[in-house]
Amino acid sequence: ESETGAGRGGARQGHSPWPGMPGGILASPGRRDRFPGYSGPGAACLSVLPSFGFLFDIDGVLVRGKTPIPAARTAFQKLVNSQGQFLVPVVFVTNAGNCLRQKKADQLSHLLGISQDQVMMSHSPLRMFKRYHEKCVLVSGQGPLLDIAQDLGFCQPITIDALREKRPLLDAVDHDRRPNVLVSGDFSVVLFGEPVRWETSLQLIIDVLLTSGYPGNPYEQENYPHIPVLACNMDLMFGHGTFMVCLENIYKKITGKELKYEVLMGKPSRLTYQYAEHLIRAQALQRSWEQPIQTLYAVGDNLMTDVYGANLYNRYLESSRTGSKSRLQAKVSGGRGPATLSQDTAAHCRSVLVCTGVYNPHTEVDFRFDPGLVEPDHIVPDVDAAVDLVFQLENFVPN
Ligand SMILES: [Mg+2]
Repeated sequence: ESETGAGRGGARQGHSPWPGMPGGILASPGRRDRFPGYSGPGAACLSVLPSFGFLFDIDGVLVRGKTPIPAARTAFQKLVNSQGQFLVPVVFVTNAGNCLRQKKADQLSHLLGISQDQVMMSHSPLRMFKRYHEKCVLVSGQGPLLDIAQDLGFCQPITIDALREKRPLLDAVDHDRRPNVLVSGDFSVVLFGEPVRWETSLQLIIDVLLTSGYPGNPYEQENYPHIPVLACNMDLMFGHGTFMVCLENIYKKITGKELKYEVLMGKPSRLTYQYAEHLIRAQALQRSWEQPIQTLYAVGDNLMTDVYGANLYNRYLESSRTGSKSRLQAKVSGGRGPATLSQDTAAHCRSVLVCTGVYNPHTEVDFRFDPGLVEPDHIVPDVDAAVDLVFQLENFVPN
């Protein structure tokens, strides 16, 4: 119930979607097939229209830092026709969050022309949460935060720095000196990524939460549940997950209550995969490909985000096939939007691990996670082999 994080009831416990597993279990990742000499179930029903789509991770799959991975170029030649149009729906899903998606699309332009509509940053699902767009939001992170927030649709973003400057000097009684940018009850906090000066951000975010958007006012016990907090990229291995743990613990120490997230996004959260699937369907629709999209292939280099997220989404898809079709819509929208996600869902999401990035087959890793979710469906040397494999599995012969 907890992975989308949509709605208060969906708030995570600790750092869901990774469940707290008993620690200390040493395991190497499972391998369902490794460099398979796969020859397909026969050439009986070759397809020319795709009933599948790709979710490509970027770093470690297509580029390493700023350097392109050579296999990416070969792979991309197979994915486009002579006019440079994609032959299958493709989205690029990165957990990066400190730049605009156009910048990420531009970074891939050495491979081929990519539309920014094909690029998903960790914060991209916020585009659907229109109910927050008109409200004032406090944004935390690095990079061009106001540009990112405005590009996502937020009309009144305010940065931590701006709040710090506008905050009156300990004079909450003087109404003229109260911050006039904040409106109680109509205010939310968006955590894009880890900030530079944690102490300032932690202090001000906590102040805003405790006072429902009136820092400088006294803390009221009844300000709970607190104003909405929307968070991107909870990856514990990197800065932002750690920053969020600090925020949660300070909040709990002061109030004795749990900090709850209205929305959590970025891999491996389910919302990110739902939004990626939504983009894939939109591409298929735009190209008038009438075959339903049955299978998503998530190609990535990180077991704990790419593989875990794809397997978690697959588990969700396969279990929701047995439930009612409208469950996805109901759960994502929480009755209050976003209303733009398609109701149709794919049947499967397959995880494909490449060895050009952070994954090292020779390293034993301490997995505290559900072992079934860190086991990739396929392991291939690189993204080019991933494309070959998927075309074979799908009997796909593009025109
Ligand atoms: Mg990666």
